[in-house]
Amino acid sequence: MQIGCHVSISGSIDKAVDNAMMIDCSAFQIFTRSPRSWHVKDLSDNDVKSFKQKLDDSKIDRFATVAHMPYLPNLATPNHDVYSKSVNTLMKEVERCGKLGIPFLVTHLGSHLGTGEENGIKRLVKGLEKAAEVKNDVMILLENTAGQKNSVGSDFDQLASIFSQLKPTKRFGICFDTCHTFSAGYDLRTDNAVKDTMEKFDEVVSLEHLKILHLNDSKGTLGSNIDRHYHIGLGGIGEKGLSAVIKFMNKKKIPMILETPIDDIRGDFENVKKAKELA
Ligand code: ZN
Ligand code: MN
Ligand code: MN
Repeated sequence: MQIGCHVSISGSIDKAVDNAMMIDCSAFQIFTRSPRSWHVKDLSDNDVKSFKQKLDDSKIDRFATVAHMPYLPNLATPNHDVYSKSVNTLMKEVERCGKLGIPFLVTHLGSHLGTGEENGIKRLVKGLEKAAEVKNDVMILLENTAGQKNSVGSDFDQLASIFSQLKPTKRFGICFDTCHTFSAGYDLRTDNAVKDTMEKFDEVVSLEHLKILHLNDSKGTLGSNIDRHYHIGLGGIGEKGLSAVIKFMNKKKIPMILETPIDDIRGDFENVKKAKELA
């Protein structure tokens, strides 16, 4: 089982590996830089070397590590300035992942800000393909969304239509977020619901493209379109549903990453432990 959570790189990027080990993770996700800024400082050779060294020394498989794009980029935006900064950031992150040996980069699909899905998707596809021109073998993973207003890619059919436009195919994959899926209206609360939802996903998008699972419970209810993650088993999806998801993903050998809250109820260690129990 490959499971872990989003860990901090605070101090230096190699600390991510320490942080993951400390809470018994066999997979982890990072931001390669501050997620709340456009500014990015280049990785030094030393940063890269010590990250790789620590990862090699750990029991964590490189193919269970993933980076997440920062928050500010919007690849579907009609604003030219923001769009070009967003595409540049994506290219930069693909490069950084390549240097660090991280095989996957998760990106959101953005918001068309009221200019219509068709136009938003055109910009998105163009931006993603531009980033795939960066010469390495990092795979860009499209994350399904909860279906907030103007957002692109919550519906499996739409996600599949976007995915099918992307070339070369081998540079793209899917990151499936259980909270987003549930909020978007796909039930995951029982064995049967998980079976149906995954069958539907396989039919439309295809499971072969699924590379990473974001394992989150949902604060919002089914179809609420609310993107609020919650502790494993304590949200709208619940233990039964998440247990079925975990078993399914384990069989497919898909690494699972938690992006759950840290509060008085639980921290990362407790949520990862809970997820392992549900397997
Ligand atoms: Zn995300
Ligand atoms: Mn996610
Ligand atoms: Mn989310």
